Amino acid sequence: MNEERYNQFKEKLGFFDWNQSIYGLVKFTEIVDKLEGQRSSRGVSISLYNDAIIRYEKQIFNNIENWETSENRVEPIYFVYEFEGFTRSFYGKENGWYELKIISAERKENYAEDEEFIFGKVFFAASPVKWQSVKVKLIKQAPMVISKIDYRKQIEIEKKKGSVILGHGKYFCGYPYGSSSIATLYNIGQANSTHIQFNKYVSAFIDIGYPTCGCDSELKKSNLIYKRKISKKNADFVFLTHWCLDHFLGVCEHEHFRNNVKRNRARSLYDAYWLAPDPTNNPDASDASLRLCLYLLQRKKICLIDTKTNPRDHVIGSSCLDIYSGEYSGDIRNDFGLIYEIKGKNTNFLFPGDASYRVFPKEIVGRDFKYILAPHHCSGMIPPNIRGIKSKNLLKFHNNQKCGFTFDNSIAFITAGKTNTHGHPDPKHMADLKRQNFELFILSSHCAESFEIIID
Ligand SMILES: [Zn+2]
Ligand SMILES: [Zn+2]
Repeated sequence: MNEERYNQFKEKLGFFDWNQSIYGLVKFTEIVDKLEGQRSSRGVSISLYNDAIIRYEKQIFNNIENWETSENRVEPIYFVYEFEGFTRSFYGKENGWYELKIISAERKENYAEDEEFIFGKVFFAASPVKWQSVKVKLIKQAPMVISKIDYRKQIEIEKKKGSVILGHGKYFCGYPYGSSSIATLYNIGQANSTHIQFNKYVSAFIDIGYPTCGCDSELKKSNLIYKRKISKKNADFVFLTHWCLDHFLGVCEHEHFRNNVKRNRARSLYDAYWLAPDPTNNPDASDASLRLCLYLLQRKKICLIDTKTNPRDHVIGSSCLDIYSGEYSGDIRNDFGLIYEIKGKNTNFLFPGDASYRVFPKEIVGRDFKYILAPHHCSGMIPPNIRGIKSKNLLKFHNNQKCGFTFDNSIAFITAGKTNTHGHPDPKHMADLKRQNFELFILSSHCAESFEIIID
């Protein structure tokens, strides 16, 4: 989307105008165990709406049945309008629709014990990503006020059209990937974003996140570097581990900043083929994730894996890529995800997203891994034990500075951000990784911006 159109859209929606009525679908999510090493806290995510957004969506979806053929159709713009934060109070509150009071907040207030407000950040993106530190008050439950688009229903309709078959491996099986790949890890605080170059012709992102946690200046700095780097990156595929903002919000940055590149502009990631766990399996999925899923389904650009009926399974395999499903468990959004393994002849790299070790399938447990992106930003997992995942220290590796790094030792890469407000990385988890012979490589405290790692 060009700047002018974006500004029109932005004005129309009034996304940071806190004087108007704001509604939110509130979800109390994971328990964050070690916030500041003290008492446990609860994650809160809120899908936000104002009257303009509800009107805009109606305009798009009213004629959804014949949208493809209608002449005066309004082209949908993919947008995110979400709050992410945490609280130590509000334990008695229920999930659901609320009328909200939102106030701009200073970051230094975030740690206050506040009975009245939930602290966090509002993210708005219709590309590029904008955000503001705020505090949110739940005024009253407001189920009758909201009559918005039912994303889950629309997704079911799209799925029934049969354009994208669940668990369908057509795009991925037997693809001539070759046996040597280069993984580029981006150093962007708590968020996962990796670009994989399988061979000269085929490339992918494994998650394209945006940091949602950490101090404001860190977010600004890492984002600046990040958008410059990814704006030139092409990808034929986007492989999502799961639907958290810190794993997919970067798509909006990519979309915006690639438009500012004059020569050799990267292709839109909305035109890439996506592979992701079916978000409708997850009762906690945010509207931002359901909206993106629907947007891609309408373009026939996404293949959804039903991780609910295929838990801990080997879903898709090829010569250099294996995909496994996680399992429905306590920490729903994260464990529901997909686990990706990039394979070379001697080297392998495991990308578990935010899934806990306890949901790793049997095909992974007990095997050796040369590289792993530490799951869930190296959080303090329950139980935290690394079930049989081992490092590989026996093989010899070459260094080719032209293509990227190879390491002599096995490495666990950690993306948690320097000033992580969730308490990641967890010291015990780090000790567990070391005990399994992994050396730790904490991306967010390293001066380099991105790392290219050879998987051959
Ligand atoms: Zn994450
Ligand atoms: Zn997550």
